[in-house]
Amino acid sequence: MKKGNIGVTTENIFPVIKKFLYSDHEIFLREMVSNAVDATQKLKTLAQKGDFKGELGDLTIHVKLDKDAKTLTISDRGLGMTAEEIDKYINQIAFSGVTDFLTKYKDEANAIIGHFGLGFYSSFMVSDKVEIITKSYQEGAKAMHWTCDGSPEFTLEETEKEDRGTDIVLHIADDCKEFLEKTRITALLNKYCKFMAVPIAFGKKTEWKDGKEVETQEDNIINSVEPLWTKTPSTLKDEDYKNFYRTLYPMQDEPLFWIHLNVDFPFHLTGILYFPRVHSNLDLQRNKIQLYCNQVFVTDQVEGIVPDFLTLLHGVIDSPDIPLNVSRSYLQSDANVKKISTYITKKVADRLQQTFKDDRKDYEAKWDDLKLFINYGMLSQEDFYDRAKDFALFKDINGKYFTMEEYKTLIKDNQTDKNGDLVYLYATDKNDQYSYIKAAEDKGYSVLLMDGQLDMPMVSMLEQKLEKSRFARVDADIIDRLIQKEDAKKSALEADDRDKLAEVFRSQMPVDSKATFNVDMEALGEQAQPVLITESEYMRRMKDMSHFQ
Ligand code: ADP
Ligand code: MG
Repeated sequence: MKKGNIGVTTENIFPVIKKFLYSDHEIFLREMVSNAVDATQKLKTLAQKGDFKGELGDLTIHVKLDKDAKTLTISDRGLGMTAEEIDKYINQIAFSGVTDFLTKYKDEANAIIGHFGLGFYSSFMVSDKVEIITKSYQEGAKAMHWTCDGSPEFTLEETEKEDRGTDIVLHIADDCKEFLEKTRITALLNKYCKFMAVPIAFGKKTEWKDGKEVETQEDNIINSVEPLWTKTPSTLKDEDYKNFYRTLYPMQDEPLFWIHLNVDFPFHLTGILYFPRVHSNLDLQRNKIQLYCNQVFVTDQVEGIVPDFLTLLHGVIDSPDIPLNVSRSYLQSDANVKKISTYITKKVADRLQQTFKDDRKDYEAKWDDLKLFINYGMLSQEDFYDRAKDFALFKDINGKYFTMEEYKTLIKDNQTDKNGDLVYLYATDKNDQYSYIKAAEDKGYSVLLMDGQLDMPMVSMLEQKLEKSRFARVDADIIDRLIQKEDAKKSALEADDRDKLAEVFRSQMPVDSKATFNVDMEALGEQAQPVLITESEYMRRMKDMSHFQ
């Protein structure tokens, strides 16, 4: 039997693992299972290259729970390890690098795992003893048994093992008993391993027999090895995307549309992003994107990784170029992550542009759901604004949609003030501002509906961005002054002059021609100004009223 010390500079490592990584205890399972997946994939690659000539056989990874023995075991039929390899990969892993790293980035301890080969040692966050029983695929290799109780000392000896591959046995510590619960492990496998590339079995499938749930002989496979984003887009149907969305977010409404991402250069990235129906509460929408690294779940806290407005999207991003263990500040400074973020923004803009171009009607039908998202993007990201200004829509009070350019053309001859600036009239409440809207429309003006959550910030921004343009609420008392038209004289009156004007009209009008001009008295609320309405409008209202008489 061999005894030894793990590495040279490890003395301080275990307290670090236990302390710094405390909050993220549960990721040990991801680390163990992803190592098993790696070992299996490596063997498959060897087989493809002809370097492994044996039978691959069933490659399913098994996760086993033994509550009595207080162990959790992860078994694979991957390439296994020889004694030398245990020495190299387990005993002397890049610990010197870790020490350097630690002194440099004390606060970034989470980023160490995986990146610096601490993945395996995360098992000591939950175990007071770890065993490796392994047999290499290489001919004549002897099975080896490694144990370590969390001190830097280990033992290594020969053992008996029939099958090629590795069993990792975790003796779960007393203060981590939760990891001996079937439900907890099921939840963790579901969170971290659901899309890993090799079948993973946890227990047996159950079925109902005579009102009782009984175990069958069949393995309970918890993952799907070829998730949708790994497939070729041209082979997929809309229904496939919708189904996948349903498996990711069972409680959500159907998505509006999606983008299948697939890049090889200058970085690798695949994924599917969905545009959800946006609910009014932006915060509920956030952080639905799941980040994967080679089908291994990393995080669903994507703030800082994708631009803020994109956190409203749903779906999956998978990139081997995203470090497996991430802390946010680490990611924000990562050059790859920045490139990825720019790429995604561009793709999202492309997709919206294309949908707009291909099927305007459909796009308009979806606009109300897309609007919040697009406005948010325009407000928060300059380059997205530059793209989105071509497919962002204005909606007028009658539900008609215009691009910004179209709308400009519509109002440019009729809605300018005396400086020649375009005046965009808008209403924020169709009912409250009804009479003002009517009055404006009767003058031949177009009125936009701006009743959305981000419409006011949009108005402020557009006033800055659009040249020689201003926005005026339809009931603003200056409205008549803003707009030059034939009867400019009348409308150019100061607000408080209008009361007088109304008086004048009233007094001068013959009793029987009252209908020519009237003051809309309904509108005389607290701040409301009297408004002139036309004859036809007056007649219409009288007619409406006559229904009630
Ligand atoms: P990483 O996975 O990033 O290389 P780990 O600390 O998770 O770092 O694992 C260290 C090394 O130990 C792996 O690179 C691999 O060589 C070896 N190893 C760990 N688990 C297994 C396993 N189940 N089968 C074969 N080799 C393994
Ligand atoms: Mg690993």
